[in-house]
Amino acid sequence: MIKNKVCLITFQLLFSITVLFSQDTVALRYGNSISAEIIKKHLSVLASDSLEGRETAMPGMIKAAAYVSQQFAQFGIPPCNTGSYFQQIPLMKQFPENMKLEIAGKVLNYGSDYFTIDAPPSLQLNANEIVFVGYGITDSLSGWDDYKDKDVSGKVVLILDGEPVNKKGIALVSGKKEASKWQNDRMTKVELATNQKAAAILLIHQDYEKTFEKMNKRLAAGRLMLDNDEAAKSTPIIYVSKEIGNRILLQGGTDLASWEKKQVRKRKSMGLSIAQKVEVVNNARKVSCNNVLGFIEGSSLKEEIIVITAHLDHLGKREDKIYYGADDDGSGSASILNIAEAFEKAKNEGHGPKRSILVMTFSGEEKGLLGSEYYTNFPVFPLKNTVANLNIDMIGRVDTIARNSVNYTYLIGSDKLSTQLHSINENANKIAVTLNSIIVTMIRPIN
Ligand SMILES: [Zn+2]
Repeated sequence: MIKNKVCLITFQLLFSITVLFSQDTVALRYGNSISAEIIKKHLSVLASDSLEGRETAMPGMIKAAAYVSQQFAQFGIPPCNTGSYFQQIPLMKQFPENMKLEIAGKVLNYGSDYFTIDAPPSLQLNANEIVFVGYGITDSLSGWDDYKDKDVSGKVVLILDGEPVNKKGIALVSGKKEASKWQNDRMTKVELATNQKAAAILLIHQDYEKTFEKMNKRLAAGRLMLDNDEAAKSTPIIYVSKEIGNRILLQGGTDLASWEKKQVRKRKSMGLSIAQKVEVVNNARKVSCNNVLGFIEGSSLKEEIIVITAHLDHLGKREDKIYYGADDDGSGSASILNIAEAFEKAKNEGHGPKRSILVMTFSGEEKGLLGSEYYTNFPVFPLKNTVANLNIDMIGRVDTIARNSVNYTYLIGSDKLSTQLHSINENANKIAVTLNSIIVTMIRPIN
């Protein structure tokens, strides 16, 4: 069942492009050279034990990228990135042991005292002051402002999770019984502190232990990020326990409970500055991964480029268990290979497409779309000439909406950015495979 579906959907994607050929019969001939058997052959390599779930920057993923490039070479597709099939992506891998947090001469314990998700990969920060900005709220509607008359520029800010609430359960910011948006909106609080040029943010997490327990394994396995200026300039966000929050406030002559009581009594923001030395050190490890590119030059409109993509990476191993990622997105990557082969064959026999086609497998998708972000920042072919990107993901999936049928596909975003892509696709579908399209209007923004 899945075999047929893979085949049919791949046909459809191919024909989305091949209607650009003048003769539909020629397009159908090359379309028919794409088969479920060939895709399965590629997939059995990509989702094999030895590739260990293709985690970005791990040996299995390096083997997968090598397989894709070898296949491109075998099809006769020449390398297109200054003699290489690869586009190398510089990354940093953040491990908890790469970091040190010292407050008032005492090195804090990772896990029991603090953990971090976001920190610049290379950091040596020394500050002499911590500014406690209470709940870290600036609310334009009510006028509540925890930053009023405070200069936090270049200093470490300490922020408390949640919002101030009085004994009757009334939120002081909104004056209402229901929690306001500030109760759970850490992102806006972080943004406010960052805009005020804080050097680092210590956030007292209201559910510290449970959250750390939930994230511990993932953080210990290392977090990948692009090694770029944006990461280098980012503000470190460090979650600390209530005990650490109290320890810091004690140096300012108070503790969380007393401070809270006083603030509720006075009904106004009651932050304070505490003279305390803070040192934050981070030295993430430099690693890299590769996008793999194959370029099939077009004929009369060769300057225009259509990009066909899939992400080659998956989750890798968790302890001894391999997450093979046959569907996500081995299926899309295997299809890319068969599509590339068909177009190269058509070109060699004098029936190549008018526009150029760039087939590309991305790396780092599961780590936050790192490979596609890198390509859009450093495109090998000018983005202004790139007329469309068809991305294939998880074509082996049968979901609850269409459980009894394999004759369908999800088409996401085809009617959003382009006035033509959707109708080209529908037309190709009619000529070639007559799949039912489930149109999803959501579109994921490019980073
Ligand atoms: Zn995916």
